[in-house]
Amino acid sequence: MAYCIDKELCIACGACADSCPVGAISADGDVYTINADECLGCGICAGSCPQEAISEE
Ligand code: SF4
Ligand code: SF4
Repeated sequence: MAYCIDKELCIACGACADSCPVGAISADGDVYTINADECLGCGICAGSCPQEAISEE
């Protein structure tokens, strides 16, 4: 199960990318994306997001 970022809520703070233990979150400018092939589904990023922009798909 992969997690997904709601781009409408994301403020591009970078906390999620810093928190991911496997580096599955990348940024292209201010657009943050979770690579579903790398995501373990641990949920750590969701807990780190101040905007609650990350949820399970
Ligand atoms: S759920 Fe875990 S593995 Fe997946 S992107 Fe978030 S922190 Fe990384
Ligand atoms: S932690 Fe939340 S607000 Fe910050 S970059 Fe990640 S998804 Fe966007």
